[in-house]
Order: sequence, then structure tokens, then C-alpha cells
Amino acid sequence: MTQRVYNFAAGPGALPLPVLEEIQRDLVAHPELGASVLEASHRSKWFDGVLAAAEYNLRTLLRIPMEFAVLFLQGGASLQFDMVPMNFLRRDGPAADYVVTGSWGEKALGEAVRVAGAEAVRTAWSGKAGGYVRTPSPHEAAIQPGAAYAHYTSNETIHGVEFFELPAVPDGVPLMCDASSDFLSRPMDVERHALIYAGAQKNAGPAGVTIAILREDLLGPIGANLPAGVELPAMLDYRVQAREGSRYNTPPVFGVYVVGLVARWLIETVGGLRKMEELNRQKAQLVYDAIDSSSGFYRGHAEPACRSRMNLTFRLPTEELEKQFVKEAGARGMVELKGHRSVGGIRASLYNAVPLDAAQALAEFMKDFSENNADASRR
Ligand code: PMP
Repeated sequence: MTQRVYNFAAGPGALPLPVLEEIQRDLVAHPELGASVLEASHRSKWFDGVLAAAEYNLRTLLRIPMEFAVLFLQGGASLQFDMVPMNFLRRDGPAADYVVTGSWGEKALGEAVRVAGAEAVRTAWSGKAGGYVRTPSPHEAAIQPGAAYAHYTSNETIHGVEFFELPAVPDGVPLMCDASSDFLSRPMDVERHALIYAGAQKNAGPAGVTIAILREDLLGPIGANLPAGVELPAMLDYRVQAREGSRYNTPPVFGVYVVGLVARWLIETVGGLRKMEELNRQKAQLVYDAIDSSSGFYRGHAEPACRSRMNLTFRLPTEELEKQFVKEAGARGMVELKGHRSVGGIRASLYNAVPLDAAQALAEFMKDFSENNADASRR
């Protein structure tokens, strides 16, 4: 087999090796099917079991109460940016509050404005003026009593800032979270949310499936900001997706199957989300220590208290050195370290399936690189 690199990609990202090996086995002929998992019908008994197991494993990991539906959708987290306001903002109803801590929160807010109009959406907090270096403290965001809902992004993949305390919401305001890039990286207080959604392609599986965890009592009063007599498209209506058990149309069969395997790996091999969180904390600490002990050679983007454990963003003294860093890391088998084009610098994503060894190797390389180039940075 070709040697596997240390993959620091921001998503699609690393998947656990035992999961990949199981997929490899099932790719030509799954024992139960005698056919590939790519050839299985979404109405097969096999897929009934796959869907039930994926849901059960997620419920176990995140302690999702029964009053929440677990949906497997398509269109990525980006389509959730539209489905949320389309389903939960009502014509002439209260506005929604958005807490904006980076590019993804900005996109979510932008889509809400697009589908519901500027007057239906408020910015309850924005870190934009400060360059998106932190998340607000719980009471800092001005979420209004009676708001249609409050939306935040638990981890900003591009800027590398993460919430470690939930935004405080006035009683009765449904809290909605884009958890795409830290989903399953740690326990989550599901009960304090009305909706949590995540594209799978970081911690939970391959691209092509989006998980939505939604409090069922919200499905009743879905109003939609639409003219009288016009209804939401069925595919974009959470009620339809929930009623049909994520099988209104052909679901992403392969993606759901992999999400189930990843969740099982988290339960059986890792030992649950508390264990996963501890490991992720250790991995991130190695790299942040390398930043903090570099005498200013590396500069972390985020304020220390808000530093993401998933996407670690930092700069070097010059862009030249950043290019050289990425190149030399690549030669040592560490790939996908280039920062997002909108912010530059370096971004190391340490998702669940990135092993401790990878974080150690990166931290050691960072130390070597800063020592070897300390002079160049002063020139
Ligand atoms: N939200 C966050 C936090 C993300 O990281 C991403 C993708 N990187 C998205 C939303 C958009 O997800 P998708 O590409 O699945 O639409």
C-alpha cells in the first residue's frame, strides 16, 4: 500500500484507518449484500440497518434525547444556511439573531438575508472588525428576547476560533448551531440547542452527507417566510425529511454508511467523546506550545482562550517563509498546511482521525523550522 501522509486538510479531512480498511473490504462485496456498498439500494434491508445504526451511534455519542430527530441530508452545511431561515423565519414574525465569529457565520447570515430579507435578520455580535480572533463571552452577544432563533458557528474553520461556552439565549429563543468543523470532536450540550447541523466531511465521514439534529417540537410551527399559498420545496422542508426518515428521495447511502462506521469507531475504539476531546486537547496543545515557545517566530491568529482545537491558524514572519514551511513540511510527509486563501498563513487541522503522532511530528518540524530560519526572519 502507498505510504499514508499526515493529512492536515480542513475538510474533506482525515478518516480513521480502521474505517477506511472496513470500507475497502465492503467496496467490492459487503458480506451481507454480496454486492458493493456503492451498489446497495436505499430501500434494502441492509440500508435500513445502516441508517438505524448511524442514528443510534450518534444518539449514543452525543446523548441525543428522543425528542430530537436525527436527519441525514444533502447540500452540505451551505444548504442549511438557507433551510434554517426558510423553515424558521415567518413573514412579519420576529427577526433572527446571528452571532458571527468568522467567514462561515458571515455566510450563514448572508444566506438568511438572501432568503428572508435584511429586516428579518440581526447581527447579535460580530468579530469582523477585530479580524475574527475570538468568540464572544456568553452574555456578550445581544440576542433579543423573542428572537425567532439565535444562530452561531461552534468552530470557525477558516479563522480557527472555537466556542468553549455556549452563547446565552433569553428563555424560549431556539439556539441553532453550525457545528460542521468540531462535530463529534467533544461532547455537546444537545438539549440546550434546537438545531445542530454539520457537513460530515471533517470529523464524521465523507463529503455528501449533512447531519441535522433537530428538536421535534419545532417541526410543528414551521412557518416559512413565503407568500400565502406558496409552500417550501419538499426537499428543503425539515418536516418532510423527518417524516420520511431521511428517505424522501435517494439519500447519500455511502455517506450514511461511513458516518455509522466513524461513530462506531468513536464508541468502540476511542471510548466516547470525552476521551476524544482529551486527545484533541493534547494534540492541539503540542502545536500551540510550539507557537508559544517560538519567541514570536510563529504568531497564532486567535486569542489564546478561543483557540480552536480543530483548525490551528498561525502566521510566520514573511509570506516567503510560509511558502517554504508548507514545502518543507510536504517533503516530510505533512500535507495540506496552507491557510485558507482568504486569510493566508498556515492552518493545521487536527480532526479526530489525525493521530497524536502527526501533531507531534508537526510540532517538532515547527521547532526545527523556526530555529533554522530565525536569521532569515530578521533580515
Ligand atoms: N460551516 C463550516 C463551519 C464549514 O467549515 C463549512 C465547510 N468548510 C461549511 C459550513 C460549508 O459546508 P459545505 O461545504 O458542506 O456546504
